[in-house]
Amino acid sequence: RIEPAERMKVLPTQFFAKLVGKANAQAAKGRDVINLGQGNPDQPTPAHIVAKLQESAANPLYHKYPPFSGYAFLKEAVAKRYKDDYDVDIDPTTEVAILFGGKTGLVEISQCLLNPGDVCLVPDPGYPDYWSGVALAGAEMSFMPLTEKNAYLPDYNAISPVTANRAKLMFMNYPNNPTGAVANSEFYAETVEFAVKNGIVVASDFAYGAIGFDGKKPVSFLQTPGAKEIGVEFYTLSKTYNMAGWRVGFAIGNAQIVSFINLIQDHYYCSLFGGIQEAAALALTGPQDCVVELTAMYERRRDALFFALEQIGWKAARPGGSFFCWLPVPAGYTSQSFADLVLQEADVVVAPGIGFGEHGEGFVRLGLLTSEERLQEAIFRIGKLGLF
Ligand code: PLP
Repeated sequence: RIEPAERMKVLPTQFFAKLVGKANAQAAKGRDVINLGQGNPDQPTPAHIVAKLQESAANPLYHKYPPFSGYAFLKEAVAKRYKDDYDVDIDPTTEVAILFGGKTGLVEISQCLLNPGDVCLVPDPGYPDYWSGVALAGAEMSFMPLTEKNAYLPDYNAISPVTANRAKLMFMNYPNNPTGAVANSEFYAETVEFAVKNGIVVASDFAYGAIGFDGKKPVSFLQTPGAKEIGVEFYTLSKTYNMAGWRVGFAIGNAQIVSFINLIQDHYYCSLFGGIQEAAALALTGPQDCVVELTAMYERRRDALFFALEQIGWKAARPGGSFFCWLPVPAGYTSQSFADLVLQEADVVVAPGIGFGEHGEGFVRLGLLTSEERLQEAIFRIGKLGLF
């Protein structure tokens, strides 16, 4: 019998693997399941990016090991994107780390910065991968509740001075998964003030940075004065360019933190396949109309879903960004019992809020990751259960 190391035992089990299992079991019964439970973009990568990979895959230079920390051209491409989109100056040689998707960096930053016994401030509800890195580092999590009352922004005044003092790192994520909330510059300024006062490093997860609705472009944390002195932003191509399977992301910002992340990456991976780096650079520097179209598509889907919600009387706040809707469950249900019910009785998969933390209880997350027609059908099927 092979025993895992102690550190493995602290890793939380993948809640969403269970969800996929249940959805597959229902589909195996021959049912027409509408899966709104996961966060996998349903559209293909734009053709010009795929064509670039096909071409660059043949370049023998890329068949050798890539340089440690990746090619300069890709770091320059992301620095240019930040300049064009946010008017933020990034030094591509010292302020960018290339990652295997944002996910790797979000786990690694905890290992870079946290010692056993340190505290990490984590949003609740929030993206579960933050927990894994903190657990592997042997550090403690202190949850910051995100509630409707606070527009799903953490309330720094509610954090005790003792906890704030012990905290070394904090995660934040806007546009937010799972709530769909967005943050503004005032909130980011308040974040910098709080972090500086308490000596906390800020990890801003900007995975949904491109997806803002109602004509409002999400703000980058790095636009905030002083942000680069105390933090990094995680930026990924997964959602912006439908490139989730390509695994390309970045940590951008404070040069010291970037160097720590690069060091860890060098030991684990060297860097991404050069052909992918070249195609990723084209995604960032080529025509951006695909991003405008993508955002418009998610907004149409959101509006279609909310039209159906109104029809059945399911009241909820519209998300301002990301591709998730955060909906309260009807009285008498937990997020899990409601998710189980709609899977069994309506063949619709939704993600129970409890999977994102204790404060996710009472809500389910629906992804805008299928057509307007299918989204509406899902809601009308749930409506037939007569719970609203
Ligand atoms: N952060 C958030 C909030 C996410 O929802 C996701 C993916 O679902 C990621 C980060 C990771 O993205 P990737 O590793 O594909 O870049």
